[in-house]
Amino acid sequence: MIVLVVNAGSSTLKCQLIQTDGKVRLMKALTDKIGDKNANMSVAFAPDFEETIYDIEGLTIEQALSKLLDILAKDPNSPISSLSEIEAIGNRIVAGGEYFRESTLIDKDTFPKLKLCEKLAPLHNPPADRCIEMLQKLLVDTPQCAVFDTAFHQSIPPKAYMYPLPKRYYDDYHIRRYGAHGTSHRYAAQQAANLLERPIDDLGLITCHLGSGGSITAVNHGKSIDTTMGFTPLEGLMMGTRSGSIDPAIVTYIMRRDNISFDEMDRILNKDSGILGISGLSSDMRVVLKAADEGNKDAKLAVEMYVYKVQQAIGQFYAIMTRTDAVVMTAGIGENSSELRELIFAGLAHMGMILDKDKNNVVGAIGTNRIVSIDDSPIKICVVTTDEEMRIARETDALVESTF
Ligand code: ADP
Repeated sequence: MIVLVVNAGSSTLKCQLIQTDGKVRLMKALTDKIGDKNANMSVAFAPDFEETIYDIEGLTIEQALSKLLDILAKDPNSPISSLSEIEAIGNRIVAGGEYFRESTLIDKDTFPKLKLCEKLAPLHNPPADRCIEMLQKLLVDTPQCAVFDTAFHQSIPPKAYMYPLPKRYYDDYHIRRYGAHGTSHRYAAQQAANLLERPIDDLGLITCHLGSGGSITAVNHGKSIDTTMGFTPLEGLMMGTRSGSIDPAIVTYIMRRDNISFDEMDRILNKDSGILGISGLSSDMRVVLKAADEGNKDAKLAVEMYVYKVQQAIGQFYAIMTRTDAVVMTAGIGENSSELRELIFAGLAHMGMILDKDKNNVVGAIGTNRIVSIDDSPIKICVVTTDEEMRIARETDALVESTF
């Protein structure tokens, strides 16, 4: 099935065209800085994925998507010659609230519920919904699915998803833990079960999605029972530019002292903090690791803090699982950085998570799912490659196949 994956953000639009049968990527497009005068769109087709850059100054997200579809239909290098060859559309939706426990087909019953979720992710859901509406008009007969970052976490019990605030904030504003990266955690857990050659229902897994955003999930018998991200993706681990969990009183303290607005505070917590905020260098872990190795003190502190927060979260979830069979590392840092894996697990051997340094360091293993703990480690350590767009395409394929 040829699936168009649409991942709309506040000022970005990432799209891929995927042939799900052979898991083949046919097109990748990245639109950045939508609404800005430097807005541009890069489009790349298989097999070479050579990028062509288009100026999209002044275009809205719907217009940018429409332009991409026009390129898809007309470019001689495009793998399709007509938009009717797109058999389904998979939309990544950041917040599914309490309405969606699973990916869903978008129709007249589900779309109004999607609209109700907009309040929960005001930067991400509305542009995604606008793309859906545009595509409904343009590709009238093409089924569309919504794949949620939050759905996998709907199994989290109330004691873990409620915040100890006056209960009316949950009743009136639906403030609770929703989590994120659900597609990735679900996939990582299943891949780990495959590696361990055991049914996922028999396993206790701690999945660590460590990318520029990061979250850790306790997956007990195949179900998410707790996760570090909360009402928004700001909670939990220290991330590339996000603070993660801090004493909430710091927020009002800084706002009063510096007399800054809500928007400025929001920016500080989401864009200026984390690895970037502490290192003062970059949000890119590779840059900060290199600087730390060269002796930069702030970079070293950033790495130490990052490692510490990951260790804490793994320990916290170990305590609440009924069993722990494996810790699963995925996403940019989790998959690629043997150095960080070594630092993280150096502190966790006493819990029975014992890294095999040789297996952890095998050159050329990147991109391969594998076990990197010693053979008789009581708790295994797995490394799994995540691919969000491919997951969305395959979920869309499965949903459409089972419905039509
Ligand atoms: P996202 O999809 O959220 O943008 P990714 O999963 O691509 O994030 O992860 C990006 C992060 O992974 C960046 O901090 C990047 O520096 C880090 N990363 C990628 N490769 C490596 C590596 N070899 N060593 C350390 N960090 C890496």
